[in-house]
Parts: sequence; structure tokens; C-alpha cells
Amino acid sequence: MVPKVFVVGSANTDFIVQVPQLPSKGETVLGGVFHIARGGKGANQAVAAARLGGDVTLVARLGQDSFGAEAIVGYRKEGIKTDFIARDPVTPSGVALILVGSTGENMIAVAPGANEQLSPQDVLKAERAIKEASCLLVQLEIPIETVIAAIELASRHNVRVILNPAPARDVPPDILKRVDILTPNEKEAAVLLGEPSRQDSDSLLSDLARKTGVKEIVITLGEKGAKIYSHGEESHVPAFNVVPVDTTACGDAFNGALAVALARGQSLVQAVLYGNAAGATAATRVGAQPSLPTAEEVDHLMVSL
Ligand code: ADP
Repeated sequence: MVPKVFVVGSANTDFIVQVPQLPSKGETVLGGVFHIARGGKGANQAVAAARLGGDVTLVARLGQDSFGAEAIVGYRKEGIKTDFIARDPVTPSGVALILVGSTGENMIAVAPGANEQLSPQDVLKAERAIKEASCLLVQLEIPIETVIAAIELASRHNVRVILNPAPARDVPPDILKRVDILTPNEKEAAVLLGEPSRQDSDSLLSDLARKTGVKEIVITLGEKGAKIYSHGEESHVPAFNVVPVDTTACGDAFNGALAVALARGQSLVQAVLYGNAAGATAATRVGAQPSLPTAEEVDHLMVSL
């Protein structure tokens, strides 16, 4: 089965300067090393799925600038279908300015730019492609009305909906009823429950299932793997043992891999195991899209079980 994955989400360009130490207010720090990497949760998850063999269509919005043009060239090189990526005539492409200190601490400023203009109409234009997909993968780095439009369109065509509720923010309860699989980390799960954080995480899954009505929920737990709630049953899938270097985009690797495995017809438990292997591999490398693994790398880790 060709794993057709339809992703609606954000696309950014990250400008990263590694500095000896982070500057204080008004200070200039010399001696940094600069590099550019592509990021944005939507694009990251699309790239993650494409590298793992997914037939991926990305719906996103970029500016009419060189960053937007270069991003599209990059996505095409990954084999992603870019027919429904809009170019905003006015608003520039989304960017993140990131300073990273010598011990990994960071300062980040994001200008979402064209991501904030990604509209329900942009999604509706892609109806033909969404109809043929096995699943929709959507996150919360774009306007909520666009998230809602994507979920409604997918559910109208009986396409499985995976919502990665990241970054943490409220989601209208009505729309959660149409979500097939919800994939928060612990912090995002707490926010969906209306709590800033939670000490006792044991009841998080069942509380979330009760509150949202979603039948299948996966809470990712970093180096502790992931917990699954499926139609009233709970289980735990442990993480792979790796030496982490940078956990940026682990969640994106996980979600892209989960979508591909489900689109191939695998069970939720098998798909979470595959997601764990992709997340663990991404933890061993620096950056967002540069750290996302290939199918060979994930398969290699899977056979080490
Ligand atoms: P997010 O980046 O959204 O907070 P997590 O940190 O939970 O998501 O990571 C997603 C998945 O990646 C985890 O469920 C786990 O399988 C894998 N992962 C993340 N960090 C590690 C780690 N240090 N060691 C092994 N696996 C990891």
C-alpha cells in the first residue's frame, strides 16, 4: 500500500548562530558560527514522512522571497508534492532567529509571517489530493480556523485525522470529536486539560480521553517512549536507547513516522514503535530537518530490538 500522507502546517527558515555564550540585553557577542536550516512543524513532519517512504503532499504558505523559493526547491528534493504550497504576495516567509550557547541553552524569536496567512481556502483548494490520502497530519502552528478546515475536510472524506496539538494551545472541543488520533507530549496534554502542568502523569491519558472524546491518544514521553490509549485500553511502548545530542524535532520525526506506518496499514502499537525509532534517531543529531532520519536508519534501529 502506498503510504499517502497529507500534511497541513507551518514552514519556516531557521537562522542559527552558535555563540560562546548567550548575550545579555544590549550586548554583542562575537565569535559565533552561522548556519541556515529549514524548520516549522508542518514542513518538518512532511520531510520526516517523505524520508521514510511516504507519498507526501504539503499544504503551507510561504512568502514571495528567496527563503520561500529555496524552501520549495528543498521540499521537492525530498520528494514532497508542493502543488498546494501558496506564495503570499505581501507577507514574508516565516523565520526563526535562534541563538545557541555552548551548553545547548538557547534564545529564539519567531516571526510566523506567511504561516499566519495560511487560510481555510488554501486547504479547500487541495480537496482532490486530501481525498486520495490515507491520513491527514496537522499541528497548531497555523491559524486555528485552518486547522479546523483541514480536519473537517479530511473527516468528510473518511481520511484518518492525526492531530499533533503542538505548540501547546487550546483546541475547540467540537473539533476534537473529529480527530482519530491525538499525539501530545506531556505538557501539551496538560494544556488540553486546562492545566498549566501536572505532577501525577499516571491519569493523564484517561483524563484526556474522557475530556476530549478522542478514541486513540498517544502521549510522547521523550526518553521514556510513549503511552497509548486505544478504545479504553492503555499500554506503554518504551523508547530506544540512544545518546541524545539535541532533541529538537524529535516529536516531528515521531509524528511523520507514525503517519507513514499507519498509512501502510500497521497497527497503532507498531506505528508508535516505528515513531519511537524515528524520534530516537532524530535525538542523536543537531537541528530540525537535518536531524530527521532515513528509512534505512530507522529500520536499522528497529532490528536492534
Ligand atoms: P516533543 O519533541 O514533541 O516534546 P518527545 O520529546 O516526547 O516529543 O519525543 C518524541 C519521541 O521521540 C519520544 O516519544 C521518543 O520515542 C523519542 N525520543 C525523544 N527523546 C528521546 C531520547 N532522549 N531517547 C530516546 N528516544 C527519544
